[in-house]
Amino acid sequence: MKIIDLRSDTITLPTDEMRRAMYDAELGDDVFGDDPTVKRLEALAARMLAKEAALFVPSGTMSNLVAILTHTRPGDEIIVGSESHIFWYEVGGASTLGGVVLRTVPNEADARLDPAAVAQAIRPENIHFPHTTLLCLENTHNRCGGAALTVEYTAAIAELAHGHGLMVHLDGARIFNAAVALGVPAEKLTAPVDSVGFCISKGLSAPVGSLLCGTGDFISRARKWRKMLGGGMRQVGVIAAAGIVALQTMVDRLAEDHTTARRLADGLAGIPGMGINPAEIQTNIVIFESPETMSGPEFIQRLSEQGVKVINRGGRTVRAVTNRMVSTADIAEALERISSVVKNR
Ligand SMILES: *Cc1c(COP(=O)(O)O)cnc(C)c1O
Repeated sequence: MKIIDLRSDTITLPTDEMRRAMYDAELGDDVFGDDPTVKRLEALAARMLAKEAALFVPSGTMSNLVAILTHTRPGDEIIVGSESHIFWYEVGGASTLGGVVLRTVPNEADARLDPAAVAQAIRPENIHFPHTTLLCLENTHNRCGGAALTVEYTAAIAELAHGHGLMVHLDGARIFNAAVALGVPAEKLTAPVDSVGFCISKGLSAPVGSLLCGTGDFISRARKWRKMLGGGMRQVGVIAAAGIVALQTMVDRLAEDHTTARRLADGLAGIPGMGINPAEIQTNIVIFESPETMSGPEFIQRLSEQGVKVINRGGRTVRAVTNRMVSTADIAEALERISSVVKNR
């Protein structure tokens, strides 16, 4: 039985072209600044997001951590969404290693933070208070089902934060999904923010890595934090080479993942008892509720026995992420199997 893996877009394998580029990559010791391939990737990333400079880091988690460490000082408070990846899935690293307090503001279902709530959360000067120094946004939004923040919203909320003296970091792990879904250049979505990180290891299908982008000064300070965290990598061009191919060949095809996500959502809506609104699906993440006849973990287990892999996000909430390894035919097959699991209950 063919396994249809919808757990995440991180499961995407490098293409043949990426593997060839990795084999052929010109290399050097990047800690000495000698790796021409990683320099090319960093320059390309910075250009695509219209920032001065970029830094290649091992993961999206390190990209966010390095950004927070670079923008803040221990004892600062930073504002993050209540559903943000930084708050949920990064092991509290910003607090453990950066000594910052995470102040959450509720994410709306469409991933936005209400500007009034953000303004309210920014601390005025007071001897009792920590300094609020950073606002973090997320686009597309993982826990908000791949929702994309628009250019207009990003500009408005960044202006509000800047007006209060805060810096703005964008967790743009899937920023190119947002750009493709909204039909705008990614650089328009990142222009209002001071720093942005994105993953090449997700829908873009490179094996490893993320790029943190910002001003030249910010990136040179970030480079030192990366070194402190043990993220200084030597002949890292061997993986950066795949990243270059990813940025050159994999961005536009993300639209296919959005189409398969929509197909999956439409199909799920036709299965009795399934909780889903296909109109809410904007990119490649499909969040839905399994039928009341089964617990979430039981549903996941039964699907897994039928070769369909998804993840349980607590309760009966299920997450499926479409990706390059899953074709339109696979989606049809997955829907058949899901339907039979529900029927044979
Ligand atoms: C995946 C993801 C990350 C972390 O990336 P890793 O490479 O898995 O560490 C950060 N933010 C968001 C929104 C993500 O989806």
